[in-house]
Amino acid sequence: MDLNTLVLSKQGRLLACLQENIRIPSVEGPAEEGAPYGIHCRCSLDHVLAAADAMGFKTCNVDGHVGWCEYGEGDEMVAVLGHLDVVPAGDGWSFDPWGGEIKDGKIFGRGTMDDKGPSIAALFALEALRDSGLPLKRRVRLIFGCNEETGATDVHYYLEHGGEVPVMGFTPDAEYPIINGEKGIINGYCSRSFTQTGDLKLVSLKGGIASNVVPEYAKAELACNAELAARLAEKSFEKVTFTVTDTGLTVEAFGENAHGSLPWLGENAIGRLVLALKELPFEGELAGILSFLAEKLGMDTVGKAAGIHLHDEISGDLSFNWGVMTADEHHLELVINYRYPVTFDYADCGPAFQTLFEANGFTVRQVHKEKLYIPADSDLVKTLLKVYKEHTGIDGKPICIGGGTYAKCLPNILAFGPIFPGDEAREHKPDEFMEIPKLMKNAQIIAGAMYEMAK
Ligand SMILES: [Zn+2]
Repeated sequence: MDLNTLVLSKQGRLLACLQENIRIPSVEGPAEEGAPYGIHCRCSLDHVLAAADAMGFKTCNVDGHVGWCEYGEGDEMVAVLGHLDVVPAGDGWSFDPWGGEIKDGKIFGRGTMDDKGPSIAALFALEALRDSGLPLKRRVRLIFGCNEETGATDVHYYLEHGGEVPVMGFTPDAEYPIINGEKGIINGYCSRSFTQTGDLKLVSLKGGIASNVVPEYAKAELACNAELAARLAEKSFEKVTFTVTDTGLTVEAFGENAHGSLPWLGENAIGRLVLALKELPFEGELAGILSFLAEKLGMDTVGKAAGIHLHDEISGDLSFNWGVMTADEHHLELVINYRYPVTFDYADCGPAFQTLFEANGFTVRQVHKEKLYIPADSDLVKTLLKVYKEHTGIDGKPICIGGGTYAKCLPNILAFGPIFPGDEAREHKPDEFMEIPKLMKNAQIIAGAMYEMAK
């Protein structure tokens, strides 16, 4: 039997195994001995490793953080990285999220697409590869993570505790055809204290909900006498409103929501608010700070005003999102999320950002998540695209994204599958499901990719 037929012959067992695992609600829970992400994540891992053991594969449980199973011989190892933890069910389901129900050729439940379905498909793909007897030069390892959704400390633990690094591999936890570039992501946390003098004072300011979301609303409370409040309330700025209060003025700015990796698709309410506040008669250090923020951040989405703009052909512009701002009478904090193109490094933008804010009296802390880039002409990208074409007939082009996938956690791997172009991404939504033919197509592609990487 050829490899594809062998994979298909396992459909019944694959679905039964996936159903059993869907019934374990492996949302992160309180840590326990041997279960760092809660008992359900541990049970889900134990279940898959027991299935792998029953197939005759060597298995290893790395203290409940990750587990792996392996087939083959050789000094080098190639890997498929999946995860067994899931996000909470949430509302709006018409099926039992923990049921694994099969209806109309689909399997429903939390994790069917993200990422239990592809992970268990990989397990049966490995069994099919073993059964095929095809000769391999490298070992094939399936790594099952348990903390992708809430921090991805699982693979970090694996690497810290001597986990072998694959020579190449992929994670079926994003989409086809292949993601070969993911921008580097930096969160800049900037804070400073200030003094205020004069007739107009800032009492509080709040805008934004998270660093990676373009803020759609921001609001400032100002204190001043009634006469000044009435005068300022007559000013007019686009999508900014002034409301006179008992103690002064409320200023509200409105923007448009978008993902922080694509800030140009939104409108930044914090930037809009600060541009308006800069025009008001503040005095003291605050006046200077507002001018600085208006000039260097404002409504900019590519970091040009801040002097850190970068661009490449492969992944486009550096993205720049002023995600959060809070302030009281004498202290303010900002969170800025910026992402640099894949052919650049932290050194090309991080230090300049740091210097700019420090020179203006801010304390700056930056948290950096390294970019990922495996060139389109590399063996790995060419191999995976060849397998993809064999199974779909489509000439796939590698893509670069601003978000980060699980691939960033482990060297030498990238994101490949499981969602086909044009299909709805149903992960994290109610009624998450996977069409059974597409689940099996994924298993075939994974088996073919494992063979091509290991042969
Ligand atoms: Zn996932």
